[in-house]
Amino acid sequence: MKNLVIFGAPGSGKGTQSQQLIQRYGLHHISTGDTLRSHIARHTPQGKIAEGYISQGHLIPDDLMVDILRAEIDDNPERVAHGVIFDGFPRTIAQAEALDKMLSERGLQVDAVIGLEVPEEELIERLLKRGKDSGRSDDNLPTIQERLKVYHGQTAPLKDYYERAGKYRRIQGSGALDKIASDINDAVDKL
Ligand code: AMP
Repeated sequence: MKNLVIFGAPGSGKGTQSQQLIQRYGLHHISTGDTLRSHIARHTPQGKIAEGYISQGHLIPDDLMVDILRAEIDDNPERVAHGVIFDGFPRTIAQAEALDKMLSERGLQVDAVIGLEVPEEELIERLLKRGKDSGRSDDNLPTIQERLKVYHGQTAPLKDYYERAGKYRRIQGSGALDKIASDINDAVDKL
């Protein structure tokens, strides 16, 4: 089975499209945002560190993030072997390199990166709307603006990283959900 990265700015629909990919291809979902929020809810030491970074819209330091991801992979070896959808990871070049290394040690690789591209105004609109009932500490305008700045500075360069590896698949991430899903599934079916 394939290992996919679902990639895009905050609000680009990574979580939503992950859900339909899980159903269609039976992939194991690893969302680092969900994992971190679960650490915070359980008051773990990692959660205590992560809390401040998340509420300010900043990235958790790479070392900590990579350790958390490694634990997620090691906790579910069988499910991981059947294919994973990585949602919200990697977010920096250092994380992408760490992921390549972690997978290659297990005889695996990232097979494709599904890049959801959505205009900036639409991202802000979607995140503000989600903020009305998400209860998330980071779905408010100043934090959204900071997260988008962080995305452009630290995460967007990954497009080049994966394009050079021939793995980046650009998907128009605005418009009807069904159309976005079928564009993604066409790209995955071709792998
Ligand atoms: P998300 O749910 O993917 O939007 O992530 C919410 C927040 O969790 C981000 O704004 C970061 O503060 C933190 N986070 C999630 N994934 C990562 C990652 N791969 N590296 C660093 N921070 C992350």
